[in-house]
Amino acid sequence: MKQPLLLAAAMTALLALTTPASAQDKVLNLYSARHYQTDEALYANFTKLTGIKINRLEGREDELVERLRNEGDASPADVFVTVDVSRLEIADKLGLFQPVKSALLEERIPANLRTPTWFSFSKRARLIVYNKVGVKRDLVQTYEGLANPALKGQVCMRSGSHPYNLSLGAAMIAHDGEAATEAWARGLVANFARAPKGGDTDQLRAVGAGECGVTISNSYYLVRLMRSTKPADRETVEALGVVWPNQASWGTHVNVSGAGVLKHAPHKEAAIKFLEYLASDEAQGYFANGNNEWPVVKSAVAKNPELQALGDFKHDALPMTELSKHIAAAQRAYDRAGWK
Ligand code: FE
Repeated sequence: MKQPLLLAAAMTALLALTTPASAQDKVLNLYSARHYQTDEALYANFTKLTGIKINRLEGREDELVERLRNEGDASPADVFVTVDVSRLEIADKLGLFQPVKSALLEERIPANLRTPTWFSFSKRARLIVYNKVGVKRDLVQTYEGLANPALKGQVCMRSGSHPYNLSLGAAMIAHDGEAATEAWARGLVANFARAPKGGDTDQLRAVGAGECGVTISNSYYLVRLMRSTKPADRETVEALGVVWPNQASWGTHVNVSGAGVLKHAPHKEAAIKFLEYLASDEAQGYFANGNNEWPVVKSAVAKNPELQALGDFKHDALPMTELSKHIAAAQRAYDRAGWK
């Protein structure tokens, strides 16, 4: 009886010399394309809870993806965090992630918001926002309706190549088909008040100022303006009306931010632990309270009055795995329609 035990002990000692597993697991290398101040607290709290130190490399999405490709199997990165399904899909198509099996993630994250390789950790919606004086509310109830010629010269949008609009186009292709989505984009472009420029917040300001009548914006930019105490922002918000699009049909397009464990992660255990942490009620609260995104976990409670003031709505229930299939087609449809 004694011998196998001794052997086991010797093996353990040997393993400890060759692979200092415990020391390894005290570090996590994170590549992040999320640039929100509140994420600092989210990461610091993980270290406090687990003792695992996070080395974070922040960069632009395309730079980080390029870096991961160049580093290949020598990459020190364990986890990649980014926003928008179209970007997560790019990383996934390149084979940057590895499959993760976690009962906890499967239990906490709704099935339509996860894939075998990456997981959603927060939600944002694409809302229709209009100028209450300039535009009639009943004209702007659906995404499709923004192509109505009655809105000629009223629509302001950011670039059609931006992931937020590509993901919306992918959802429309899934629901309405590619031809209808292209025709829609054509109608939308024909209604533009100006050539696409700036981000969602710029469109909201232009709508507030009456330069345009209506736009589509991610919810968290709107909530950020709603929480602002600057007089100019207060004035903008006063002028805006908000619509949950497509409530009578397929629901409002919901996008996500997400993360996955990288294929060559040197600290895989810590990486999974980190993803599981992101699905905890506590971490979910950081997304909701800090960056005005909705938690993906049902039991997580947002303590964010402005976010909660937006109320509840019918989400597009399309799985992320389905959405991601149509991103490339959305880009082609927008290109043909001339949405630069
Ligand atoms: Fe954004």
